[in-house]
Amino acid sequence: MSKTDWIQQEIENLQSAGLYNRIRTIGSPQGAWLIVDGKKVLNFCSNNYLGLANHPALVAAAKKALDEMGVGPAAVRSIAGTMTLHVELEKRLAQFKGVEAAITFQSGFTANLATIPALVGKEDVIFSDRLNHASIIDGARLSGAKIIPYEHNDVKSLEEQIKANLSQYRRALIVTDGVFSMDGDIAPLPDIYEVAKKYDILLMVDDAHGEGVLGKGGRGIVDHFNLHGKVDVEVGTMSKAFGVVGGIVAGKAVIIDWLRQRGRPFLFSSAVTVPDAAACLAAVDLLEDSTQLVDKLWENAKYFKAEMKNLGFNTGVTETPITPIMLGEAPLAQQFSRELFDAGVFAMSIGFPTVPQGKARIRVMISASHSKDDLDKGLGVFKNVGKKLGVI
Ligand SMILES: *Cc1c(COP(=O)(O)O)cnc(C)c1O
Repeated sequence: MSKTDWIQQEIENLQSAGLYNRIRTIGSPQGAWLIVDGKKVLNFCSNNYLGLANHPALVAAAKKALDEMGVGPAAVRSIAGTMTLHVELEKRLAQFKGVEAAITFQSGFTANLATIPALVGKEDVIFSDRLNHASIIDGARLSGAKIIPYEHNDVKSLEEQIKANLSQYRRALIVTDGVFSMDGDIAPLPDIYEVAKKYDILLMVDDAHGEGVLGKGGRGIVDHFNLHGKVDVEVGTMSKAFGVVGGIVAGKAVIIDWLRQRGRPFLFSSAVTVPDAAACLAAVDLLEDSTQLVDKLWENAKYFKAEMKNLGFNTGVTETPITPIMLGEAPLAQQFSRELFDAGVFAMSIGFPTVPQGKARIRVMISASHSKDDLDKGLGVFKNVGKKLGVI
């Protein structure tokens, strides 16, 4: 017996349950088409909503910054000083989002780990949507606060939990995803805001899938619902629509200032690299210059969803470019994904525990980088596979 035998056993268990994740290797830049495991396929997988991951303007900005400023920030910002690029990025993000201030992190994941424990602690309570992202759940656990889930997107359930529990705690936080990544539905933020206001509770939204997607020119969910100045904390990511990497927290200046003092991933971990920061700045430039890419994304999403419905597929409750194709059992979804891949379409199946049992699906991610011809090709393949497997 070796100390790692149990790990080997667990891995074998995953394999025999069909839950072991074999990660495919991409041998090309991100875009509408990819070379995946050596094969050219239509990309329906990535979060590259606007096609910025390989956009010439971002690549040029990153190269220029490399030449002028080198590669890395070399230390934690709060200890060794912060580079002008990171300060400039935070200023520009705050302006773009129409908030008092913004702070950047290494990722959206660390933005949540930084923010939640800085706002609540052991004597406090967090009201959290049942389907919130793993990084919200981990941030909430790290804070030591009592976590009380409410039913998904159910403001009545939220208010019931608040009424039943609020008085037993010192402070409270309401936290929700903006766009839910598995179904593509949007949190009812105006109603959640009314409840937060009524009970005077801090309100935080994680807009990872809304940044660059929702609102005017991609300004996010707060802009989408015209709630400027009403949501205390907006978390976002530059790893999805922005096409780069990094997390954002945007909101009231006092909260951002506090995160510079007490956000642990800010205090004890370095920052995104120089070319990352420069590429993110170029992304802000692009989005401020024109809404063209965001408009194209939505036009593509509307077309694809309507055509999938016409074919007879069930696309669930999506309100965004995230398009789930509901299939039911996990083995069917896995087989569907394999058949798509063989026919040149890269779209992954998603099963339990990422989504509930019996709600397995293929998740299609639409991008502004898809041409109408790309979408038609994808629709044709979905139609063939759907017929072959008896789904439509
Ligand atoms: C993707 C995602 C994150 C993590 O963002 P990264 O920048 O990739 O770390 C956090 N929250 C939500 C809701 C997400 O969808």
